[in-house]
Amino acid sequence: MSFLELKGLSKRYDDTVVVAASDLSVAKGEFVCLLGPSGCGKTTTLQMVAGFVQPTSGRILLDGKDITNVKPNKRGLGIVFQSYALFPHMTVADNVAFGLEMRGVPSGERSKRVASTLELVHLGPMAGRYPRELSGGQRQRVALARALAIQPPVLLLDEPMGALDAKLREEMQIELRALQHRVGVTTIMVTHDQAEAMTLADRVVLMNKGCIEQVGRPFEMYERPNGRFSSTFLGKANVFSTTRAQAGPTVNVLGYRLPTGDTGRVGALEYIVRPEKIEFTADNAALVKGRVTARAFLGNHWLFQIETPLGAIQVSHANTGLPQAEEGDEVGLHWAPENARLVPRAEGAA
Ligand code: ADP
Ligand code: MG
Repeated sequence: MSFLELKGLSKRYDDTVVVAASDLSVAKGEFVCLLGPSGCGKTTTLQMVAGFVQPTSGRILLDGKDITNVKPNKRGLGIVFQSYALFPHMTVADNVAFGLEMRGVPSGERSKRVASTLELVHLGPMAGRYPRELSGGQRQRVALARALAIQPPVLLLDEPMGALDAKLREEMQIELRALQHRVGVTTIMVTHDQAEAMTLADRVVLMNKGCIEQVGRPFEMYERPNGRFSSTFLGKANVFSTTRAQAGPTVNVLGYRLPTGDTGRVGALEYIVRPEKIEFTADNAALVKGRVTARAFLGNHWLFQIETPLGAIQVSHANTGLPQAEEGDEVGLHWAPENARLVPRAEGAA
């Protein structure tokens, strides 16, 4: 099933572990995003797959073959890094042909492949232009075409849209997703942008401090974060620390009995509820009461900060066009037990 496999892959520089022993299986045709904050080891992981960084331990298998010690150019992977420097003195077509030339593809076949790859990224008419005559988005598509022209078994992308402005980035994300579907190439992309990862990935690999925290489909990971880090890096979350001696339908947080969808967990726990799962309610149905201390209007939704005895709680509501609670208002908060998540508290967490 798995096409690309990382087995206990780690990287240490001197005494610093930058990637802890990591396992990951990627299926053929899958689009996987390595997501996490800056410095968490995403690029290092990708560079080990590309072959530019030698792992400290572990193995990389591609289609069943161990490629851990194979030179980068012999792995034949398609690569687009953040600074996808195109050759400025070469035309678009020559840039795209470069990898094919290196591989000794005969010129007739080469021209055909360049033309079809440029077609794929909608740059057919630009073949004769130079990089300086293109927009940022077009240059980014040339870099993609250059990586895809060699028909690589795996496409590696490191923050490929880092240089694009927000609106263009969104357009390119949709385009990249469609392109990856059309070509069916197994893809690993690095990003620190959670919306980008959720837009593109079949599965998100969430990293923190060199470790893989959670792997899952975007919806599944958003709805079932496995801890404080996952819940707050992927979207927003209210997280309360608690401990529970006996399994039951509620947990006690500062004397409040909060309902949970989970009865099984005991020990040091974190209770997680997302802002959009919280409703304003009449006093007698409220799980906790508080006062609106801040409110922001974001067009499609409202964001409220509520000061409660449990601490500040964030609530977000879709904009229905109707007036909303205002700063200073007293509100009751309610959420359904099945929308709360109870997870073991991470070591070292408060
Ligand atoms: P990310 O891509 O998630 O931002 P990186 O993989 O680039 O993170 O880096 C992870 C950590 O490894 C960082 O703390 C970085 O400083 C460190 N690091 C990366 N390359 C080297 C190197 N060649 N020598 C020493 N430390 C490095
Ligand atoms: Mg990086």
